[in-house]
Amino acid sequence: MNLQTIKDTVEMVAKSNGKIVFLAGAGISAESGIPTFRGDQGYWTIGSKNYHPEDMATFNMFNLKPIEVWKWHIYLHKICNHAAPNSGHYALVELENILEDRFSLITQNVDGLHKRAGNSLERTFSIHGNLEFSRCSHECTDELYPFPKIDQERDKDADLSETELKKLYCPKCKELLRPHILWFDERYNENYYKLQSSIALAKQADILFLIGTSGVTNLPYRVLSNACYANSYIVEINPAETNFTNIVADYEKGFIIRETSSTILPKFVNAFKQCI
Ligand SMILES: [Zn+2]
Repeated sequence: MNLQTIKDTVEMVAKSNGKIVFLAGAGISAESGIPTFRGDQGYWTIGSKNYHPEDMATFNMFNLKPIEVWKWHIYLHKICNHAAPNSGHYALVELENILEDRFSLITQNVDGLHKRAGNSLERTFSIHGNLEFSRCSHECTDELYPFPKIDQERDKDADLSETELKKLYCPKCKELLRPHILWFDERYNENYYKLQSSIALAKQADILFLIGTSGVTNLPYRVLSNACYANSYIVEINPAETNFTNIVADYEKGFIIRETSSTILPKFVNAFKQCI
């Protein structure tokens, strides 16, 4: 499938006032230098034991060793904060500005780069949460608080100071806060992770773009299958094959672009600009 055919299709939908949904995964953040944390960078040592991200990012571990779990997330937050949005992120901001209410972004990324690039919180559905926020671990309120302000230059393993520890408690009930992200042993829900909203968006999509998502988690798969069921156009943008590729390749209205999002998304900005 050549790029011009895809652009023509996108322009046709753009001119017809269709809804355009972008589902973004780790690939777009990897281009900003954010690792997946599944390798060495995600390991964490407590005493003489090494833990994997799948151990540290769980509610179970938070119950057992909450301060260690906080320290690991503070380290993650620092890495995300040191990264900058790339041209793929900025293209999504331009696309939101052009498309306005016809634009929705469903993202698996917790790094906050979409928000920092300029996408609105209203049209960004962070289905795995957002590391820029925290919330009460006892759920005394649904309110999201900013991620605690902890010295960004602190040593990875250093103990938290008394002053820093105080920042980890809910201002309302004084129980511990927790990072606002979906942990491995938790389930999607609407309240925090926009489960039903994301599926509803997929059903209304005239085009669904899959950007740098490998398709290993449940909700992205449901977004894709609902969009297929709704007869949407599907465009996969990924330099490598993914778990989605076979579905998109076999789907009559599916397109595959084997390029990075930072290369290809700015080209779509121009295509949209010309026809809206
Ligand atoms: Zn509370």
